[in-house]
Amino acid sequence: MVQAILIEKPEDTQTVALKEIELPPLAEGDVAVDVAYSTLNYKDALAITGAGPVVRSFPMVPGIDCSGIVTESNHPDFAKGDRVVLNGWGVGEKHWGGLAERAHLKGDWLVKLPEGISLRQAMAIGTAGYTAMLCVMALEAHGVTPERGEVVVTGATGGVGSVATALLGKLGYTVAAVTGRPEEEAYLKSLGASSIVAREEVSGKARPLNKERWAGAVDVVGGEVLANVLSMMAYRGTVAACGLAGSMSLPTSVAPFILRNVTLAGVDSVMCPLEDRIEAWNRLAADLDMDKLAAMEMEVALEDVIATAPKFLEGKVRGRIVVPVA
Ligand code: NDP
Repeated sequence: MVQAILIEKPEDTQTVALKEIELPPLAEGDVAVDVAYSTLNYKDALAITGAGPVVRSFPMVPGIDCSGIVTESNHPDFAKGDRVVLNGWGVGEKHWGGLAERAHLKGDWLVKLPEGISLRQAMAIGTAGYTAMLCVMALEAHGVTPERGEVVVTGATGGVGSVATALLGKLGYTVAAVTGRPEEEAYLKSLGASSIVAREEVSGKARPLNKERWAGAVDVVGGEVLANVLSMMAYRGTVAACGLAGSMSLPTSVAPFILRNVTLAGVDSVMCPLEDRIEAWNRLAADLDMDKLAAMEMEVALEDVIATAPKFLEGKVRGRIVVPVA
């Protein structure tokens, strides 16, 4: 038996509690991981609160991420003692997830942690941080270099936004950080932002085109914010869009695409192929300042996870949450 957060839905309403559970037997290709750390992402908050349709089958152990040590392996690439990280693949949605003392996971989903990233740091990064890296890689793939001009990060004090700001700052970009929390200016500048943009400047109904401001963008908000950012992109700029913290909609026009040659690059972390994940984790080891990562993390005990989850939906979480499990 292991301790785990368990979401159940016996009838119409879901319940969630910390419980003792028994894991299913280890199948062919599976790996047993003693979870050292897990984390809370926006998506975990949706799952735990039931605010969004994240969980596809009940009962479910939430947690789209975990880091830990392999204790048993039915997969040729993994052996007892390996340090591994898991992000996404439907874990915590369709397969029992990382907010538990142990997880049985498909070996095909696991990444061996690079030297230089501890089990704790892996979860301070988590899906939010690994997605921030994928966004930076998308900007690079579209030729957005620091010389091209300022880049903007929306939802900058959140998990993806904080890591994106730190990564872009370290890589030499001039970073404008969009936030609804002006009181976090010092925090954002300490991560690597050069300037702060009030959320109101990129809110409201977007015009088809606005003054050209940014060569690149990482957007976690969607909706009118993304539409405004698109209207403010410089000629041949690229927006890496990964989130819907504001809205699922996109009330824009074709103008930025056909008149300014703007690229809207979608970023998905869940089904991202293994080779890109390995590259992202290696890049995080090389390009993320671990002191800045430490400055953005907050610890929440497993027994406090359920009470913390709603804070995401109120936009009250700053940076990243680490959940020590072992
Ligand atoms: P957080 O809650 O940590 O950060 C979101 C930030 O967005 C907030 O901190 C806030 O920043 C800003 N924000 C929140 N609500 C609004 C609003 N109504 N209007 C404008 N800004 C708002 O979440 P994460 O960083 O973990 O995730 C961000 C988004 O990215 C989520 O939608 C998540 O689902 C998505 N995501 C997608 C992934 C993918 O694979 N595509 C992977 C990981 C995350 P501030 O206060 O600074 O303005």
